[in-house]
Order: sequence, then structure tokens, then C-alpha cells
Amino acid sequence: MQTPLLNESSVPGKMGCQLPEYDVPEQELSDLIPEEFLRESPPNLPELSEPEIVRHFVNLSAKNHHVDKNLYPLGSCTMKYNPKVNDAIAGFPGFAELHPEQPANTVQGALQLYYELEQMLCAITGMDKFTLQPAAGSHGELTGVMIMRKYHQKQGNANRRYIIIPDSAHGTNPASVAMGGFETLEVQSSDRGIVDLEDLKSLVTEEVAGMMLTNPNTLGLFEEDISEITELFHSVDALMYMDGANMNALLGIARPAEMGFDITHLNLHKTFSTPHGGGGPGSGPIGVTKRLEPFLPVPLIQYNAQSDQYEFDWERPDSIGKIHAFYGNFGMMVRAYTYIRMLGAEGLKSLAENAIINANYLRENLRDIFELPHDQRCMHEFVLSGSRQKANGVPTLEIAKRLLDFDFHAPTIYFPLIVREALMIEPTESESRATLDRFIEVMHQINTEIDENPDLVKEAPHTTPVTRIDEVKANRELNLRWDEISERK
Ligand SMILES: *Cc1c(COP(=O)(O)O)cnc(C)c1O
Repeated sequence: MQTPLLNESSVPGKMGCQLPEYDVPEQELSDLIPEEFLRESPPNLPELSEPEIVRHFVNLSAKNHHVDKNLYPLGSCTMKYNPKVNDAIAGFPGFAELHPEQPANTVQGALQLYYELEQMLCAITGMDKFTLQPAAGSHGELTGVMIMRKYHQKQGNANRRYIIIPDSAHGTNPASVAMGGFETLEVQSSDRGIVDLEDLKSLVTEEVAGMMLTNPNTLGLFEEDISEITELFHSVDALMYMDGANMNALLGIARPAEMGFDITHLNLHKTFSTPHGGGGPGSGPIGVTKRLEPFLPVPLIQYNAQSDQYEFDWERPDSIGKIHAFYGNFGMMVRAYTYIRMLGAEGLKSLAENAIINANYLRENLRDIFELPHDQRCMHEFVLSGSRQKANGVPTLEIAKRLLDFDFHAPTIYFPLIVREALMIEPTESESRATLDRFIEVMHQINTEIDENPDLVKEAPHTTPVTRIDEVKANRELNLRWDEISERK
């Protein structure tokens, strides 16, 4: 059969453009695909019109909570405003339609963006070289641990078995340590909520490969002894890794390399925008100081001044190898690049300052109703304890659920583990005073309800599409397949 091809006369405005003619062989589907792979009945696809589909997804998005709806004060996760211009630019055909297998000389613009983004991240952190490959903060951690291992091998440092992490650490830290082939040694936090220096000194020996430390830490507190800590580790040729998930608080104010860190990751999806949650997308570039550069994963992006070309450099004999297909999540790099270029150095600094001001504003206005275990000025987030409310019969989980009735996402709860009934709150820089005041008002109202009408809180949420779920069952019998869910009904 000859397909009815478009020709010049049927394509207005395309005069002179000779369209090729294709021969589509006249064949039955079963000639092309073996019989056993053909379906027996047509696929069970819903027959819907475009407006029906649009309404379906708009309705779903309205049932969900997201940053485009209201405050999402999820501590440690930096759920903030993500400028829509980032998405528009990431969607430019010149970026979105690139093929990852294209030869480097046909994607010079993309490589230039990688290269310049790496330079900007170096400037922000003080590190000497970045790789954009890791697909999440946790992936950056693992990459960093692999670099630590390689470094000690090269140095001839035998018996480096341990990596020290604080008791307030994010769960991915010990997981990365274990996956990288080390054992975790845990250092206590002092009653001031930062690393206990005396305890740390008792742990640091020549069996220690390094430390993974979040700064500011997960209590939202700056590690004031950081210079002493990094010197202590360097004195036994151990390395310092900064979990940079909280970089929101430091931009333009303090740089990890100057604190003595050798490696750091950044979570582009937290500090430098890109909507995330529900498992992705993520991007966790890591930066290292000069002496660790040889171990970075291949390939690296280099600029060749002679040919005026950006290139992939694969000739790196000491590299830990490849850790991601191609060069990471490109769309997120376009967003981070756009975000940083849009804000500039001054804008990034005021971002950090506003994140800190907003967090302290909430903290000061909530401390009269919640216990505040570490009573110090915080950075971009802080941790309250719901112990008093728990003693009155209403645990933190119920407060989190009640917040949903007021169209607020709950803060992070029960983390960090060292605070009982923890409520970890990060308002971010992008919330207005009015939103923060409304949140304070709602928290006070819930606190009053706990005294006057505790069942109202314990039965919450009342306004969401799904109310009380069986948390244990949901965790034990996790099942996200629609056909199995509907079968069980
Ligand atoms: C989010 C976070 C991580 C892990 O980052 P992912 O990108 O989610 O893998 C690690 N540490 C801290 C403190 C974090 O907040």
C-alpha cells in the first residue's frame, strides 16, 4: 500500500520543500510481531476527551498538597517556591530535545551550561572541582564515600574502617557509609545541639577514614567548632565530608571549603529549586578540593581553550569510575543554572538571610506553646518538641494531621531522632510574613484544641479526600498497583 503522502501542494508555505516518499510494506501486524506477543483483547484504555483528561488531572492536583498551594514547611527538605521561568527554560527545544548520544561537538551549549554551573557551584562552596553526575544528595554521599576510600588506598592508609557521623544525622548518611564499605561510628550531640567535641576526640584514631557532617545540622544549628573539628580529622589524614542539604542557610555567607571540608554535596532540588517529592527528580552534585580531583567520577567536563570546545574528559586513571548514565539529570541543571543566574551573588545571599529570618520568626512565635529543646538562634530551620502535648494525650503525629485541615503541609516529624516528639520546621525564604503569621495562628489554635477538644485533633484530618488511614497496614502492605488495589475492594 502506498501511504497517502503529503506533497508540496498539500503543505502550505512549504513550497520547494521536497518531502521524501516512504514505502510502508503491506503487512499484517502478526507478520511483524510474533503471534505469542500479540494481545488477545484490545487494551483497556479509558476513552476520554481532552477536557475530561485535563479536569481529571486538575482535580487530582487540587486533592494533593504542594508548594503551589500553600506553605510546605518540611524541615530538612527545603520545599520552596520554584520559579516557573526555570521550567520554561528547561523546556526550550534546544535543551529538552537533545539526545544524550549526540556527539559533544553538536551539544556545545549544553556542555557550556554544565561547565558554567560547575564553576558557579565552586564559587558558592569554595571547592575546586564539581561533578554534576550524582542523581540525589544520597547518591552524592555514596560518591563522596567512594572517593574517601580511593584516597586512603592511594595514600597507603591501611585499616581505615570507620566514618564518624553525629547522632542527629539524616538516615541517608549511615546508609551511604555502609554501602561504601565502611562502618559507622556515632558521635553524640552536646546539650547545645552540636557535635560534642570531647566525645569526638575520643573517637578519632588512624582507623577513621573521615566524617560526614551536616552543617548547619539537622537541628538547624551551625556547628560552631567546625574549624577545630576539621583540623582534628586532618591531623590523622582523615577527610571531612559536608552533607550540604542545608546550604540554603549558608549561600553567600559561609563556604564549606573554608571551614575545612574536603568534599560536599549540594541538593540542587532543595537549595537551587526544581519541584521534588514523591521520589524525584533529584540532583546531588559533589565538589572536592584540589587533592581529591583525580578521584572524581568520569567523565569530567573540561574547556579546551585551544579548540574553544567543551569536552568530556575520560582519561582519568585514578577516577572511581562512572556513577550515572550520561551526565546526570540535565533538566535540573538547567533549572539550577537559571535560578542562580537570576538571583546573582547578592540575591543568593539575601535568600539565605531571609531563610534564617523566617525560621527565627516562627521559632520565636511558637516557643511559648512548644518545648524548645535547644534554645539557641537557629539557621534556616528549627526543631520543637511536642512532649507537652503528648503528655496531654495528643502525640505529634496528630498535630501534623490536624494541620492538613488548615491547608498547610505538616512539618517533618519524629526527626531528628534525638528530639522526642520532634517537629522540624523549615519555612524557607520564599514565604510572606502573612503566611507565616497564619501558620503561627493555626499552631496556637491547634494547641488550644488539644486542651479543650482533643478528639477534634485526634480524629483529624476532617477535610482531606482521605482521612484516617491505617499507618501500619500502609507500611507493611505497600501496594501501588491499581489493578491489585481495585481487586481487593
Ligand atoms: C534531603 C537530605 C539528604 C538526602 O538527600 P536526597 O537528595 O533526598 O537523597 C541528606 N541529608 C540531609 C540533611 C537531607 O536533608
